[in-house]
Amino acid sequence: VTAEYDLVIVGGGVVGAGILREASLHGLKVLLVDKKDFSSQTSQSSSKMLHGGIRYLETFDFDLVSESLHEKNLWLQLTPHLCFERAFYLPLYKNATRPPWMMKIGLFLYDFLSGFQNKPHHMASVEEVLSIFPDLNPDGLLGAGVYYDAVVEDAKLTLEVIYDALISPHAQALNYTEVIQFTPRGELVELELLNTLNQHKQTVIAKNCIFATGPFTDQLLQKLCPSLWHPRLLPSKGSHLWIDAKRLPITESMVLTPADGRVIFVIPQRGSVLVGTTEVALEEESYFDLKISSLEQQYLLDNLNETFPTSELTENDILSSYSGVRPLVRAEGTGELGKTARTHLCSWPLHNVGVIIGGKYTTFRVMAQDIIAPVMKRLNRAYDQNRSKRPLRRASSSLPFKLQHFNRSMLEEILTHEKVKTLEDLIVRRLGLPSARHWLGPGSLKEFLTQNKDLLEKHGIDLTDL
Ligand SMILES: Cc1cc2nc3c(=O)[nH]c(=O)nc-3n(C[C@H](O)[C@H](O)[C@H](O)COP(=O)(O)OP(=O)(O)OC[C@H]3O[C@@H](n4cnc5c(N)ncnc54)[C@H](O)[C@@H]3O)c2cc1C
Repeated sequence: VTAEYDLVIVGGGVVGAGILREASLHGLKVLLVDKKDFSSQTSQSSSKMLHGGIRYLETFDFDLVSESLHEKNLWLQLTPHLCFERAFYLPLYKNATRPPWMMKIGLFLYDFLSGFQNKPHHMASVEEVLSIFPDLNPDGLLGAGVYYDAVVEDAKLTLEVIYDALISPHAQALNYTEVIQFTPRGELVELELLNTLNQHKQTVIAKNCIFATGPFTDQLLQKLCPSLWHPRLLPSKGSHLWIDAKRLPITESMVLTPADGRVIFVIPQRGSVLVGTTEVALEEESYFDLKISSLEQQYLLDNLNETFPTSELTENDILSSYSGVRPLVRAEGTGELGKTARTHLCSWPLHNVGVIIGGKYTTFRVMAQDIIAPVMKRLNRAYDQNRSKRPLRRASSSLPFKLQHFNRSMLEEILTHEKVKTLEDLIVRRLGLPSARHWLGPGSLKEFLTQNKDLLEKHGIDLTDL
């Protein structure tokens, strides 16, 4: 039996995408498969920030913060069309758990850990804060700390990383392709794949295999190869709301610090305001395609109303919502979160089978590097760590961060080049519309799609569920 691939990657979230790109940039014969659409799970459900994680300063995770800030600043250079820097206002109130001096030290440290590549922080006066957020609760307000992080189109960045990798004739990526069986065969690995749209099965043989299946890893490996894997994740659910910008007309981003010690980001973008996240234990059995619970929704609305009391926001002001599962790593042998829960873990259950879990969206490139380097070594191939610092070469057809008017030729472009298989792939990740309510017109999204039914059907997209 001979191997068709040097490497098969299971999972097409941002981590799998990053590994595919590293492999492709080094000329490997590589295949990536995802059970659903690329970037349709955790990697489209983040707070959409490339950041160091200001709150990890409190847990002294300085290495993680520093690495993340350097990656953030790298991607700001590499893909300025997919991410941009913006100010975050962290309001300071009398009697807050974090006093002003602590905030000043924290914000200084944050800039320091970026090698002073961050746009520098400053402390804003009450007047400045209220001029920017006139509806902010002024009771006990002392001012705000202002620091800079990046906002990213998470699903689009993952897709463009994949499109970049696919420029190599040796790289392939298949969405809606689930790994249903996994058999190690000495120096090789055999995988049985199921096309979940047409139920077609195929077997592939590879020299190496990497599981980049994020929060799904424990469940998947327990099913595929229980003798090789014991659970390492302590998954937690996080949800976000898109609020109608007309009802919360803010122009800058804010960080809320609720009484439970968490943080909630409020970020105006795409004609609406993104609010999140929650952090709750998972009750759902399957982690795919999760929905926000009414308790989480209320928690976010309550915190917004406390911060902007005159807004009186209700569920009618929610345009849409989404949820995802954090792939947090727990400490070996315990049920507790690891001290470095947000750093990633590379594990090698077999010499040619790797598993990567944990980490953050922001650090996907270094995660990919950590797991690909040993594969390159085993294949006796030279590895250049700097190759993935090149800009991405193939942009998606619709503009990021813009709710825009779409036309038939743009639709044709997307359907031809962007691996769309279902209506949801098209609407949510290629057009960048969290839901039909975000459509700008003319007319309705339904009308637009119906007018182009012939084109959609030509590309195998079914409009029955519209
Ligand atoms: C609420 C929330 C907010 C967050 N905010 C941020 C943030 O602002 N900034 C940041 O840096 N990080 C953030 N994160 C973390 C970040 O989103 C994740 O670390 C990252 O997206 C994980 O990517 P992944 O590729 O590991 O997982 P995923 O994106 O989930 O990808 C795993 C893929 O594996 C596929 N898969 C599963 N089983 C199979 C199978 N049998 N066969 C084939 N494929 C399979 C799935 O379909 C999925 O697409 C946030 C996370 C959450 C939950």
